[in-house]
Amino acid sequence: MKNFDPRYNDLPKTEIHIHLEGSIRTQTIIDIAKEHNLKLPSYDVAELDRHVKVYDQMRDLHAVLEAFTIFQNSIASPQAVERIASELFEDSAKQNIRLLEVRFSPDWAFHGHALDWDECLEGLLHARDRAEREYDMAIGYIAITSRSMGPGSCMKTVDWAIRHREHILGIDLADSERDFPLGDFVPSVKKAKDAGLKVTIHTGEDTPASFVIETIKLAAPDRIGHGIHAIEDMKAIELIKERGITLEVNPWSNYLTSSVRTIEEHPLKRLFDLGVRVTINSDDPEVLDTNLNNEYRIAHEVLGMGMDEIARCNRYACEASFLPEQKKKRIWQKYFSA
Ligand SMILES: [Zn+2]
Repeated sequence: MKNFDPRYNDLPKTEIHIHLEGSIRTQTIIDIAKEHNLKLPSYDVAELDRHVKVYDQMRDLHAVLEAFTIFQNSIASPQAVERIASELFEDSAKQNIRLLEVRFSPDWAFHGHALDWDECLEGLLHARDRAEREYDMAIGYIAITSRSMGPGSCMKTVDWAIRHREHILGIDLADSERDFPLGDFVPSVKKAKDAGLKVTIHTGEDTPASFVIETIKLAAPDRIGHGIHAIEDMKAIELIKERGITLEVNPWSNYLTSSVRTIEEHPLKRLFDLGVRVTINSDDPEVLDTNLNNEYRIAHEVLGMGMDEIARCNRYACEASFLPEQKKKRIWQKYFSA
């Protein structure tokens, strides 16, 4: 749902939780497939949308996996990576997003076509530099390590991120918490921290508050992806506040993955009211058929947050952003401080 309602579009925004791999336009998937002779279920946008977008909560896991398999296969060359990023920045600028952190999993995204990670990063940096100039945004990258690819892949990703720490702001640990216990990945997280990288971890998305508590105690992340189930245990809430951890919340994503039963029950506002530093983000806007304006609409019209409260979430995001201080400050003063 591409939402450009001026009520939300006019507000300058921050986005600090968005996956590059979930942000590929359907037309771009088709163009890349034609260029690289890749097989698709359809080469028509409306038809292909039925295979690459999740519109309702009841779609089964197989459908979601099919979508991500197609997205992964689209990442066919460093040029494709650059194009995907450039288009994401264009779509972000159209929504008045001024501070943007994009995350991607190099081992997952680049291994399908055995791409060179450094060449892909070069494309990403070109796209970033162009967009920062053209749209006057502050953009940064986070490297994801996918739990499902194992601790070895995690360490490989961390080592790569450290080598490129001038351009990679931090690392993220994503994928199923239940199937791949955190303990196996703690040495990599620690290594990243020791090298000065920031850390965010997906936790408490579809898992209970105990997972959030364990993640904070074992891995001490700077931020948490989702973390919404912390609401079920005041001990988790207190710990998050005590450590000054910011939550990257993605309301529509949480609904579609059944992490909340109904969108009305989403705890974003309750977390905010408890004094947790929450931020509003879109996660995988193309797969989930959403955008940040739509997430703001949900926060305001469905969950009852005031526009001043939503603006406060932007401040939380800017303060917790992994971008260098100078870069954040300039954008904040120019677009947000009024
Ligand atoms: Zn995510």
